[in-house]
Amino acid sequence: MSQPHVVITGGGLAGLAAAVALTRHGVRVTLLESRPRLGGRATSIVDSTTGEAIDNCQHVNMGCCVNFQRLCEWTDTRDWLRTEQQLQFIGHDGRVNRFRNGPLPAPAHLAGSFARLSYLPLKEKRSLGRALRAMLRTAPNEPRLFIDFLREQKQSQLLIDRFWNVVIVSALSEDVSRVEYSYARQVFVQGFLANREGWKVQLLTRPLGEFYDQAIAKWLTDHSAEVRLKASVREFEYEQDAHTTARITRAKLADQTAVTGDVWLCAVPFDRVSKLLPNPLKNDPLLSRAEEIEAAAITSVHLWYDRPITELRHAVLVDRLSQWMFNRTAILETNTTPGRYAYQIVISNSAPLRLRGDGQTPMNQDELIATVRQEIEEIWPKAKSAELMHSRAITEHRAVFSVIPGIDELRPPQRTSIPNFYLAGDWTRTGWPATMEGAVRSGFLAAEAILEDAGIAVKEPLLAPELPISPLVRWLGG
Ligand SMILES: Cc1cc2nc3c(=O)[nH]c(=O)nc-3n(C[C@H](O)[C@H](O)[C@H](O)COP(=O)(O)OP(=O)(O)OC[C@H]3O[C@@H](n4cnc5c(N)ncnc54)[C@H](O)[C@@H]3O)c2cc1C
Repeated sequence: MSQPHVVITGGGLAGLAAAVALTRHGVRVTLLESRPRLGGRATSIVDSTTGEAIDNCQHVNMGCCVNFQRLCEWTDTRDWLRTEQQLQFIGHDGRVNRFRNGPLPAPAHLAGSFARLSYLPLKEKRSLGRALRAMLRTAPNEPRLFIDFLREQKQSQLLIDRFWNVVIVSALSEDVSRVEYSYARQVFVQGFLANREGWKVQLLTRPLGEFYDQAIAKWLTDHSAEVRLKASVREFEYEQDAHTTARITRAKLADQTAVTGDVWLCAVPFDRVSKLLPNPLKNDPLLSRAEEIEAAAITSVHLWYDRPITELRHAVLVDRLSQWMFNRTAILETNTTPGRYAYQIVISNSAPLRLRGDGQTPMNQDELIATVRQEIEEIWPKAKSAELMHSRAITEHRAVFSVIPGIDELRPPQRTSIPNFYLAGDWTRTGWPATMEGAVRSGFLAAEAILEDAGIAVKEPLLAPELPISPLVRWLGG
């Protein structure tokens, strides 16, 4: 087939990444998004009180997430992604512990920062170091729970609460007791140990909505792709007779119109895909189980004060309900209002953490904001004398899929048994957890499959090369 017309359903990062990759190869693309805005789960909304565009939740990229960076490069927005050269951790003692690269090569580049951590006793730091070394030596895909590895390494509850769970919950939105070992190992090895740049946090200096509208959507339309909002696909129609395999021919939209195309990429979330699958795929063993995927919630609490409460751009808050603080006024280059200082507190895996003292009923919005506010005032006393001008909490109940044992069996590849029907989405098989990076990877993988199947030469591998693994890490890992 020469130069097919590809119709993409879903304008989240997966669909957008595929659209950009295909457009770069001269392929005609139409992208259909059911909502009036792009970005899916990584999106901005307008807060009606302040009139500001706020992200549904602060989204963090890391140095090891090379494909999200590639998407930024391809859409001329690499300079919108600012790399933080240090990470701040604040324990109950209130001290700011700065994580930054020391002079040693990976995996020891952060050893000095670990050694100086104020909220871990020396004995625990040694135990942590032993476990990290053991992690380098264990096979990446050994099937077991991460907690079993921690028990085997005799990691204390204090270390679990103040270190392992702090990192795992913010990266995977799940408790260490539930996550699959291989995904947890990936966070520590790929993120923190393998390369000096992997752990560095990267933040967009514009709201996500601007990133889509002013950068990606504009780039797509400037390059002749069509982006259609409020275009909700209801059904994929197909043709098939007794002798042929099925082929998708049209998509019927909610407004009763239809879209035609040659190749179809469905980039919707895992809890939407079953309803959309064309009949020949409904009983496909790889696809029919998508509904079994479990999801975890993430909550963000947005606080607007009348004066600055901290100069820090971000901080990890250890062993509290509030897990991360993002100083939105300091991070954003645009969209800030004089006299109003915006902070965002993120709580991952929020469903169990937001339970009241009885362990049964969830906190309501006021109780949640009051608890977070109290924690913020404990850490930054300036907040006590500042006026809280406005606050709101947003919970995304199905924010990310849970990387619990068995998850890989539920993640299908991007090709399906229908030759002109492909899948993308963070939940498809990428080897990555639910992240912007995972979504972009899935989009690039789907685009690569589409180009290959259409006989179009791929200019360069669409997936960006991983950060190199330090020779010392290779040697230690055997
Ligand atoms: C609160 C929260 C915090 C997060 N924090 C981070 C973070 O810090 N770092 C990070 O890397 N990741 C984070 N993530 C995860 C990240 O946002 C997702 O992994 C990623 O955005 C998923 O992209 P996607 O394209 O696969 O899916 P989605 O974003 O879900 O996109 C799917 C799109 O399909 C559309 N759609 C559905 N049905 C139809 C239909 N019938 N017709 C047309 N369109 C349809 C939807 O409207 C949606 O736009 C967070 C997620 C949430 C919710």
